[in-house]
Amino acid sequence: MDLKMPSSETQLKKECHLYLINGGKWAASMSIFILIAMLANIALQTSKVLLASNIVLYMMPVFLTILLAAVVIRVYSTDEISNNALLAYLCSLEFSWLFLIWMIFDSSEEIFAGNAALAGVESIVDVLVFTFAIALFVDRKIMLMGVLPLMLLSFFLRVTEIPDNYFFPLTKFICFFAIVITGQKILYTWFKTAVVRDIEKQYLLKHFRRMALIDGLTNISNRRHFDEILSQEIRASERNNHPLCMILIDVDYFKKLNDSLGHQVGDDCLVALAKVLTDVANRPRDLAARYGGEEFVMLLPDTDKSGACRIAEKLRTALSAVKIPHPDSDISEYITVSQGVCQWQEGILLDELVAEADKQLYLAKKSGRDCFKAV
Ligand code: GH3
Ligand code: MG
Ligand code: MG
Repeated sequence: MDLKMPSSETQLKKECHLYLINGGKWAASMSIFILIAMLANIALQTSKVLLASNIVLYMMPVFLTILLAAVVIRVYSTDEISNNALLAYLCSLEFSWLFLIWMIFDSSEEIFAGNAALAGVESIVDVLVFTFAIALFVDRKIMLMGVLPLMLLSFFLRVTEIPDNYFFPLTKFICFFAIVITGQKILYTWFKTAVVRDIEKQYLLKHFRRMALIDGLTNISNRRHFDEILSQEIRASERNNHPLCMILIDVDYFKKLNDSLGHQVGDDCLVALAKVLTDVANRPRDLAARYGGEEFVMLLPDTDKSGACRIAEKLRTALSAVKIPHPDSDISEYITVSQGVCQWQEGILLDELVAEADKQLYLAKKSGRDCFKAV
C-alpha cells in the first residue's frame, strides 16, 4: 500500500472545473445584479422613454438561462456537471447578454440625444467584460469566449456610431485585451501555485500520518495506531454492549532464528507473518498490528471469546501452512507463535486489557508454545 503523489495535472483540471462552476454562479449573480440595476434605472428615468415592459422582454433570455442553470445546479452535483454543459450555459449567457445589449441600444439610440445610448451600453459591456474575465480566468479560451464578443460589440457600436474616431475604440479594445490577458495570466499562475501547493500539502499530511501509524518493516499498523483504534473500539463496545477481543501474538524462539539465519531472515519472517495476520483478521473492522519487536496483536471487534479462539486457531493453521523455516526452534522446524486471547469486559481499561492478554500469552509460552490461552 504505497502512497503515490497524486498527479497535479488531474487535480488542476478538477479544481479548474470547480472554479469554472463557481465562476458561472458568480457571473449569474452579477448578471441578476446588473439586470436589477438596469430596471431601477429605467424605473427612475424621468422621461420614460425606454419601456420597462419591452426591456423586461429583452432580459428574458438572460433570466431564463440563469433560471435553467439554477435548476441544473440544484439537481446535479458539481462533479456531475460536464464541461460541455458548463460551456453551453456560458455561451447561452453570453449571447443572451449580446442580444439584450443590442436591443437596448437599438431601442434607445433614436430617443436619447447625442451618444447617451452608446455611453450607456458601453458601461454595461465594460462591467460584463470584467465580470466574465474574473469569473472565467482559469481557462483562457473560455474566458476569451466570454469577453471577446462583448468587446467586439462595444467596438462595433462605437465605430458605427462615431465613424470619424475609430482610433479611440481601437485603443480601448487593445488596452482591454492586454489587461484581460495579462490579468488572466497572473491570476492563473497564482491559482496553479495554490492548487499544486495544496496537493503537496495533502500528500505530505497523508505521508506523515502514514509514517506515524504504519510500521515501516511490515507495512501493517503500528502500536500507536493499535492504541488509537483500541480506545475507539472500547468506547464503541461500552456504548453498544458488543463483545471485543484482542489476541497478543509472540513468535516462538525468534532470537534463535536471528542467531542462526541472521537478522535479514528474521525481518523477512516478520513481514511474512504480518501477511498471514492480515489474511486471518479479514473482517472490515478487524485490525492486525505490529505491537513491537516480534510481537503482534489482533483486535477483533464484535467477536466474543469463542470467536477469538477460533481466529487464534485459524492463525496457527494458516502459519503452519506457510511453512516459514526455523531450523533452531525447539518445537518445530517452522515458525510458530504463542497467543494470549482476552475478551474486554465492562470497566476494563485499555492497559488492563493488554496486560491480561500478555498474561495469557505468558501462560501459552509456559505451556509449551505454538498454542493459545484465553480468558
Ligand atoms: P520466546 O519463544 O520466549 O518468545 O523467545 P524469543 O527468542 O522469541 O524471545 P525474545 O523476546 O527473547 O526475543 C525476541 C527477539 O526478537 C530479540 C530481538 O533481537 C528480535 N527482534 C525484535 N525486533 C526485531 C526486528 O525488527 N527484526 C529482527 N530480525 N529481529 C527482531
Ligand atoms: Mg517477545
Ligand atoms: Mg518471542
